[in-house]
Amino acid sequence: MNPPESWPESWPESWFAADYAEARAKFRAAAERAGAVLETHLNPNARQPDGGDLTTDVARLGPAPGPAAGGAAGVLIASSGTHGVEGFCGSGCQVGMLETGAFDLLPADCALVLVHAINPYGFAWLRRVTEHNIDLNRNNLDHGAGHPANEKYAEIHAWLTPRDWTGPGRERADAAIAAYIREHGMFAFQEAVSGGQYDFPDGLFFGGRALSWSAQTWREIVDAHCRGARRVAHLDFHTGLGGHGACEIISVEGAGGAGADRARRWYGEAVKSPERNDSLSAVVTGSMENGFDGIAQDTEVTSVALEYGTQSLPEVLEALRADNWLHLYGDPESDAGRAIKRQIRDAFYGDTPEWKAMIWETADRVVRQAAAGLAG
Ligand SMILES: [Zn+2]
Repeated sequence: MNPPESWPESWPESWFAADYAEARAKFRAAAERAGAVLETHLNPNARQPDGGDLTTDVARLGPAPGPAAGGAAGVLIASSGTHGVEGFCGSGCQVGMLETGAFDLLPADCALVLVHAINPYGFAWLRRVTEHNIDLNRNNLDHGAGHPANEKYAEIHAWLTPRDWTGPGRERADAAIAAYIREHGMFAFQEAVSGGQYDFPDGLFFGGRALSWSAQTWREIVDAHCRGARRVAHLDFHTGLGGHGACEIISVEGAGGAGADRARRWYGEAVKSPERNDSLSAVVTGSMENGFDGIAQDTEVTSVALEYGTQSLPEVLEALRADNWLHLYGDPESDAGRAIKRQIRDAFYGDTPEWKAMIWETADRVVRQAAAGLAG
């Protein structure tokens, strides 16, 4: 499929959806139009708010990878919805990749694999977490080997999760957070909250104590679609950090890692690494990149997150805190609950034509750079 000579006026606006169900329908329709092979993974643990199925959908163009004749030597794999509600952005970009013929940009021996809504519960319920309150981008680690401690989070957990969302309890918690930020700074607060924690299942950025359904499904998809390839380029779409519509390309690999160096060669010096201390993101444990550990011995994996800005960091963290309270103690069907749902949607989705045009511009450039990297 080749992109038309001039873009339809409705692009890229028409690629983006108003909710999970519409996003899924748009993705599947675009995949069918592009001639992709579709597969569906049903989440057995939860349903959509209206009772519908929650699925992760995978679209593939090109051969399965493998050393046999005709097997794909390279794979461009892009995942959306790792953080549920952030899926609006990644889903729209995935539909854009299908509509504009991204597969045709790849070398002839490469496949395009699009993983839509890897955390479908969070997307459908407008939450960053899975159905078990797990942060999927902190959950991809060997849970049998113990869990990293996050003492700084333990210090502030009670303030992040007050029992009452109004009244003196909330006021005391807010005052304690404000004092913490005054004393330690905003980035220290962000690190304490968002680095990932494994001791408070009702808290924020909880990495879980076992692999979630989404993490297991991610491993299965990686194994089925990437094992045997020589090279894999992975793009994981995120929102919530940075200036409105800006994109930070993040390599989560440790400083000096070959993948981080390759990411800089492919995508430019603007690639940031939390490990190098130059990223908007705190150092995190258990990220999606670890889903490639099982194939990394034979396959060169270059994994980056595309982190798009929406609102200010305090607004984004406050929306997460509110949503956590809502699902612990509140009623999503109440007026207050609906207001919090609007708050978290706005914190992770810049639902305007201008924002969508900005994020697609970067996504399109990065896809072309990934295609060149797979060719090199
Ligand atoms: Zn994210």
